Amino acid sequence: MSDLITLTAAQMAAKLAAGEISSVELTQAHLDRIAAVDGEINAFLHVNADEALETAAEVDRLRAAGGAQADALHPLAGVPVAVKDLIVTRGQPTTSGSKMLEGWMSPYDATVVTKIRQAKLPILGKTNLDEFAMGSSTEHSAYGPTRNPWDTSRIPGGSGGGSAAAVAAFEAPLALGTDTGGSIRQPAAVTGTVGTKPTYGSVSRYGAIAMASSLDQIGPAARTVEDAALLHELIAGHDPKDSTSLPEPVPGFGTAAGNHEVAGMRIGVIKQLQGTGYQDAVLARFQESLELLRSAGAQIVEVDCPSFEYALGAYYLIMSSEASSNMARFDGVRYGQRVLPDQPPVTIERVMGATRAAGFGEEVKRRIILGTYALSAGYYDAYYGSAQKIRTLIQRDFEAAFASADVLISPTSPTVAFPLGEKLQDPMAMYLNDIATIPANLAGIPAISVPGGLAEGLPVGVQFLAPARGDAEVYHAGRALEKLLNDDAGTPVWAQVPDMEVAK
Ligand code: GLN
Repeated sequence: MSDLITLTAAQMAAKLAAGEISSVELTQAHLDRIAAVDGEINAFLHVNADEALETAAEVDRLRAAGGAQADALHPLAGVPVAVKDLIVTRGQPTTSGSKMLEGWMSPYDATVVTKIRQAKLPILGKTNLDEFAMGSSTEHSAYGPTRNPWDTSRIPGGSGGGSAAAVAAFEAPLALGTDTGGSIRQPAAVTGTVGTKPTYGSVSRYGAIAMASSLDQIGPAARTVEDAALLHELIAGHDPKDSTSLPEPVPGFGTAAGNHEVAGMRIGVIKQLQGTGYQDAVLARFQESLELLRSAGAQIVEVDCPSFEYALGAYYLIMSSEASSNMARFDGVRYGQRVLPDQPPVTIERVMGATRAAGFGEEVKRRIILGTYALSAGYYDAYYGSAQKIRTLIQRDFEAAFASADVLISPTSPTVAFPLGEKLQDPMAMYLNDIATIPANLAGIPAISVPGGLAEGLPVGVQFLAPARGDAEVYHAGRALEKLLNDDAGTPVWAQVPDMEVAK
């Protein structure tokens, strides 16, 4: 394995800027790693070596030429990135992990992809996910599950298991994900990596295939807090093409990620996000993190969020209602697959029915049915209406909590990575993985998952949450814990991933 791929993205960027390495060399090292391990990991649904190397060569050329063009290069120029296959890319397929979109090519780039292209980060390819981002294990992908590099018999989390596994297995230093209920943070937790859900509206959703539009957010996956902050800074900002995009300029997260001082920081432990349903080992690591923060001078307080008890129920009604509406565009007419009925007559309804029967997997169908039911006349107020009220109560719980704490903290996921297949037949058990991540989406606030040590050799994640637009604060707190737990203890969690048996 090349030493280059185990550097952090910030270190790679520094070596590129100093001319110690070329982007072609760096990109090729990642492509070689993908070739060596991805047969087993299945993090990538599509690899675009030619395009990645072309971008890399362009960066190298500009840098070699020197002068104004070299000076104008983005600090991450030449550092490769992977993109969740729910984010559309021109010239590379986008499947969203579904048969429905097999072979479909987007005619345009998502705004985040445009930004990445402008900054000249080579795009290695598209990463695996649960179909249309519905799931917590990547097992709902129509193209086979992704495996966790820490133990390939286990899940890498979901829906963004491909992005997280690629980063954990050194196939990519950086990746983009989307987080509707935890799909960036929970995979980060179970793969020993870092993942951020930005403030709702702070990163453009234009070109992210919509799952639940009031909850979806694109965000970064990386191995360190600083790397996540750097990628976040690059993709954030106002976009007129996204009607929910916030007008504010992007703050410098990189600076926040460099600040590890916690003396005086008030950290609120959410009473409801611990206890029953959480593995003992996860809670033990969580307590250790609290102790470390306390001994570094943070003020640890407990906050009460009584409405969180209803968060999961409210999420599954709101999310499936919105998802059922968003999935209506996949009708066999406008995008991707078209399946004709076995028997005549070939009417539009029957083509739509046959296409959806063949194109959608079980979990997607389950949510369309649940959402359609929740939105139907006579049930709308009882289900969708009640869920929206709970959403307001959850927002109020957060407001009250942030009156006594600067940031909040909880475990990211109630368990470590579980074995493939363990929860696949039990949707409720699968949904419970998101119990700690969902409240942030319902309230639109930023949250990060950072490694919180290991339990029986598997990574545990710690989540920090901040008020809306307080993304810099989650990086600050995340960096503080990262330093206390990882840097000061020697080898960071991400560097402890077992070496895979591959030809070197
Ligand atoms: N695992 C959650 C779900 O299945 C969250 C998905 C997501 O964030 N995209 O809905």
